[in-house]
This record gives sequence, structure tokens and C-alpha cells, in this order.
Amino acid sequence: MSTADLVGTTQAGTASAAHIEQTERHAAHNYHPLPIVLASGDGAWVTDVEGRRYLDCLAGYSALNFGHRLPRLIERAREQLDRLTLTSRAFYNDQLGPFAQALAELTGKDQVLPMNSGAEAVETAIKVSRKWGYLVKGVEPGKARIVTMRGNFHGRTTTIIGFSDDEVATDDYGPFTPGFVSVPYGDVRAVADVLDDTVVAVLFEPVQGEGGVVLPPPGFLRDLRVLCTERNVLMVADEIQSGLARTGRTFACDHENVVPDIYVLGKALGGGLYPVSAIAADDDVLGTVRPGTHGSTFGGNPLAAAIGHEVVQMLKTGEFQERARVLGERLASRLGALVGQGVLAVRVRGLWAGVDIDPALMTGREVCEELMERGILAKDTHGSTVRFAPPLVATEADVDLLVSALEDVVVTRLHRSRR
Ligand SMILES: *Cc1c(COP(=O)(O)O)cnc(C)c1O
Repeated sequence: MSTADLVGTTQAGTASAAHIEQTERHAAHNYHPLPIVLASGDGAWVTDVEGRRYLDCLAGYSALNFGHRLPRLIERAREQLDRLTLTSRAFYNDQLGPFAQALAELTGKDQVLPMNSGAEAVETAIKVSRKWGYLVKGVEPGKARIVTMRGNFHGRTTTIIGFSDDEVATDDYGPFTPGFVSVPYGDVRAVADVLDDTVVAVLFEPVQGEGGVVLPPPGFLRDLRVLCTERNVLMVADEIQSGLARTGRTFACDHENVVPDIYVLGKALGGGLYPVSAIAADDDVLGTVRPGTHGSTFGGNPLAAAIGHEVVQMLKTGEFQERARVLGERLASRLGALVGQGVLAVRVRGLWAGVDIDPALMTGREVCEELMERGILAKDTHGSTVRFAPPLVATEADVDLLVSALEDVVVTRLHRSRR
């Protein structure tokens, strides 16, 4: 791919072009970024190397729920940078205890196990579920199985992609880890059909973010909770993208007043500053973990714990959840008006929307390129779906701006295609 292709349709200046060329030459091509080079960010807005400003409607795939460089988070991180950053878990540090207690309280669980990336937290949930299966449930050694859902996204490790049905993510990476069985998303009957004495857990996303903000049918979370309890199977909610205020509640499971056995958290837990992930569960589950059986050099380090603790304290007040709810209602009603005008369907939960563009009109990628020219950054997924998840510190005017820009992009194209 030449730099000209990468820069594509935009008016990228020479400063951008040089950065893009350098990156493409020396960094592996495992992403296909929009041709924009960002240099700074503040709240819901970012600025590129040419000095142009954009509303960030991707928000680091929800890692930036609190926006870019929230002063309170920067201050806490800076304070900790001046004291202690890394100890390894070979020693105690004075930040992990307060963070662990606060996160346990936020989730209503007894314990947490801190890691770094989301994928590591998912791997941790898988390992702990299996451990629980053998030690507590009494599954025959080596036989444990975990139920997963079609259309899932849980990360990029070899075990995790093994239960993905996205060929782009899996091609030429096998062989994969056995012990997983996949069912259609949101189908509790299908889950029930595959349950037997070997199943230790059901791993699912309460909203499938990478899948295009796909919502399960109403009642799914509640029914799955009942089924898992009845059949002595762990309900493992991957709330890495859906959790921590994005949907208008602390956790997406809260929408049906459901408490899973294991919460899997990441992304916004690091405040957009630092990779921080964790799982949270009760003693009967996390108590199966013994010294030496699992770990991470960076997991639970004092800098991560300080940032994570500040994030949890911010979530305790409920103000970010409320912002997501209020802005989300506005986003839903404005986007809903576009259905039938080049937009086939819109799914919204909190300040999080998946918009299906008519593929006959334009691709999701084209929509994102044209939005970029109008000062809005968003990301397409699965061909013709565009995802919008602005930071929760965005304003009503920001939400209006994003919908007007999208309307302008699709309506302009509609008129052109009718001519
Ligand atoms: C992003 C994401 C992950 C993986 O997190 P990484 O930090 O990229 O490893 C896992 N599950 C869900 C639902 C996600 O959105």
C-alpha cells in the first residue's frame, strides 16, 4: 500500500504525510488507521499535527470514557510517578490494597485479581473458571469446557481468538486451544442445550461492542443468570468495553439487575492513561488461586493501582453514569431520525451507538473518512457499521455536532446517488 493510498481522500498536509509514511514503514501493519496524525487531546477533543481539531467519537474503544487527560487523573498519576511506579508482586505496595478494596466494593465482590490488558483479564477469567471447575465443581481432570457466543470479541491471544468467528482475526494463527463451545449470541436456550457436567462457565459480552454495539434480546441477562445458578456454571461477563459507565449504568449487567459471578474489566479502568485490567469475583471463585499459579510482572503495580483507584472513586458518585444516560438519550433520538435516510438501523445503549449504513450507499470506512473531513473521528466495524462512543465528558452540543455531521455525510451521498 503506498502512502498516497493511505492518505487517501483527505487533504493531509506534509506534516501528516511524513508521520504516516514513517509509521507505515517501521510499524507492522496490523491496523488500517484513518489518515490523521494526532498530537494532543483535551476532554472529548483531539488536535492533529496540522492544528485541526476533531471530536473523538471512538474514545480509545471506550478506554477514554473520562476523556483525554482528565485533570484529576493526571494529577493522581503524576503524584504516584513521583513516589513509586513498580514493585512486582514479590512485595506489597501501599496502592494495591486501597485499589483492590475499592474495586471489590464497586463490583460487590470479595476479591479482585489485577492484570494489565483486557485480553489478560479474559485469560485470567478462563483460567480461574477452569480452576473453580476442577477444585469446586468437581469436573473430571482435563475435561472443563466454556461456552462462548458467536460474534464475540474478547481480545487477541491465541486462546481467545480460538473461539472467535472472525476469519480476519483467526486465519493462519491456529492451532487453537480446545475446551470451548460456541452458541448464537443472546440465545439462552442454545446455552442450556450445550450444558453438561463439563461446562464450568459461560463467557459473554452484555453488549457486543466490536460486533457493532449488538444488544442481546431483553431478558437475556436475567435468564442467563437463572440458568447459570441452576446448573452451577459461572456467569462470566466481559464488561471491558461495556462497563464503567459507558451504558449509563456502572455495568451493562445492571440494566437487568444481574450480577455475574465474574466481572472482567479493563479499558476505562486505566482512565485512558495506562493499561489496567482486573477480574472481580467472590471467595469461592478467586479463593482457588494460590501463590505461583497465576501472575503478571506489571499487574497490580502501584502506578496502575493509583490510577485505577481514582477511576473507581470517580465512578462511585454516579455522575459519569448519569452523563452517559442523559447524552445517550439525546444521541438515540437524534440518530433515530436518520433511519430511512441512508441509515438502515441504529442501536444505542447509553452513550454508545452502532449505526448500520446502507451498504449500497457507502461503506463504513467511507463514512468515517467523510466524517473525519467534517471534524468527527469514528471507526467502522464489520463493513457497513459505524460505532459512536464519545467520551462521557462530551457536551450536548458535541452530540448534536456528531449527528449533524453524520446526517450531512449520508444525505449528501443520497442526493448524489439519486442524481
Ligand atoms: C477491547 C476488548 C477486549 C480486549 O482488551 P485489550 O486491552 O485490547 O486486550 C476484550 N473484551 C472486550 C469486550 C473488549 O472490548
